[in-house]
Amino acid sequence: MKRTLLRGFLDSVARMSTTRTNYWAEFVIDLALGAGMVFEGWQRHQGSALDALLAVLLGLFAFSFVEYFFHRWMFHTQIPLFAQGHRMHHERPLGYDSLPFFLPGIVLLILTGLCMLVVSSGFALLMMGSVTFGYIAYGLSHFIIHHVRFRHPLLLRWAGAHHVHHYHPDTNFGVTTPLWDIVLGTQYVRKSRKT
Ligand SMILES: [Zn+2]
Ligand SMILES: [Zn+2]
Repeated sequence: MKRTLLRGFLDSVARMSTTRTNYWAEFVIDLALGAGMVFEGWQRHQGSALDALLAVLLGLFAFSFVEYFFHRWMFHTQIPLFAQGHRMHHERPLGYDSLPFFLPGIVLLILTGLCMLVVSSGFALLMMGSVTFGYIAYGLSHFIIHHVRFRHPLLLRWAGAHHVHHYHPDTNFGVTTPLWDIVLGTQYVRKSRKT
């Protein structure tokens, strides 16, 4: 009985996660959350401005790895909701399949709480606020990559790396940056054609 209830709940959340409303609701919630965290973090921050900048840079750097980690080891595995939504995205890249709108916000808040146990609350909020903005940037980048045709060679290359991932799903896991694909050896390398 409990199993069927849980399955039913997961199924309805998965169905909701394919809607356009869910897609944009998540952006609105995350934007409010990120802005709130940065504002509150700045209020509470007692160190120098350089300290605050360090928290922001650390947050953005940490997010670049979180992006890679989730895409490679959570989305391309069998984890319910994560894998399901991502499989749908690979099948129809122009659709609105994404995570349930409330999930990333909850995870970010829990992580912020954990960070506060280790560093000052001001530093933790500034850092996790930046992680949140990194996540928003990732979401917007991913949307733009699939919905906009670029002309600028650099942007073409940047978007092209993710389009390659759709053909070769075991390469190019980074969307905003190729950094971790380069470090961990998953960047797509074109095989030279035999002539
Ligand atoms: Zn994609
Ligand atoms: Zn993928």
